[in-house]
Amino acid sequence: MEQLNWYYPENLNEAARLVKDGDKAPHSGGTALIRRGFRGIRSIVDLSRLPMNGIEVQGEKIEIGAMCSYSEIIHETGAVFPGHVLVQSLKNSASTPLRNRITAGGSVAAFPAWSDLIGPLLLLNAKVELMGRENGIFSLPEYLLRRELRAGSLITRILMKNYPHIGLHYRETRTQVDYPAFTVTVIAAPAGRNGVFQNLRIAVVGNRERFRRLTELETALNGKLFSHLDNLNIDNYFPVEFPDRKHGSGEYLKHAAEVALKDMLNLIAGGKS
Ligand SMILES: Cc1cc2nc3c(=O)[nH]c(=O)nc-3n(C[C@H](O)[C@H](O)[C@H](O)COP(=O)(O)OP(=O)(O)OC[C@H]3O[C@@H](n4cnc5c(N)ncnc54)[C@H](O)[C@@H]3O)c2cc1C
Repeated sequence: MEQLNWYYPENLNEAARLVKDGDKAPHSGGTALIRRGFRGIRSIVDLSRLPMNGIEVQGEKIEIGAMCSYSEIIHETGAVFPGHVLVQSLKNSASTPLRNRITAGGSVAAFPAWSDLIGPLLLLNAKVELMGRENGIFSLPEYLLRRELRAGSLITRILMKNYPHIGLHYRETRTQVDYPAFTVTVIAAPAGRNGVFQNLRIAVVGNRERFRRLTELETALNGKLFSHLDNLNIDNYFPVEFPDRKHGSGEYLKHAAEVALKDMLNLIAGGKS
């Protein structure tokens, strides 16, 4: 087994300098690194001593330090707003010990198909702050789609909007402690005035494209009465395909996702799912 070199930077500039060349792997919770194994990795930069731990909820903004664990996000955002979509999505993810380790930064950087974090972040227009080869603030989709943003740069913070919403998150799993085959996340303005959909946003994660905002469906429903759902054929607004997975065929997963989404929209509309 090859020797691993560990680095323990004490400040962000030192950490950014270390990761810049792209030949050293940042280590946050370590859950993805352990899973993939250390083949091909010679050096690791431990991020635990860096000031990236706090979560700030300020008026219309939430800022999450990259080293915050899923458990901390659930606790801190839940204290301000128990129904927050991040609470709904993360509280059932993985298992308690894992939620204590998995970090926001490591989770965005790793972006597994079963991520419970990416859907909510997409709907909250999240941005990531990078330091290293790239410096600055980038939209989450840009970070996920542009490979060159990821190599040699550290995520230091995740920034997003904070506004009242109803948040729902569906995980397609076979058992409670299982990797989801896909997730569907929906947020909407609370108790739509006069029974109207407002600020409805929908994201699917784990599909062939990895993630997809259902903007056509959002447009078709926003500003419309809840009763509009009765006459809407969601199949026409669901341009999402899934690969075959252990959970079932791609065709089955597509059907399961549509059924879950219909249930969630009915719940938003105040009906029973
Ligand atoms: C059994 C199991 C079940 C799981 N189930 C779920 C689940 O249901 N839902 C869910 O959402 N997740 C789940 N996860 C977690 C997920 O699979 C990843 O392991 C996790 O998101 C990685 O986060 P981490 O903090 O441990 O990152 P690490 O393992 O530390 O790092 C992951 C990758 O990102 C890089 N990296 C780390 N930090 C940064 C940073 N700040 N900036 C840039 N790059 C960085 C690393 O070099 C590495 O390539 C599960 C994990 C396991 C092991």
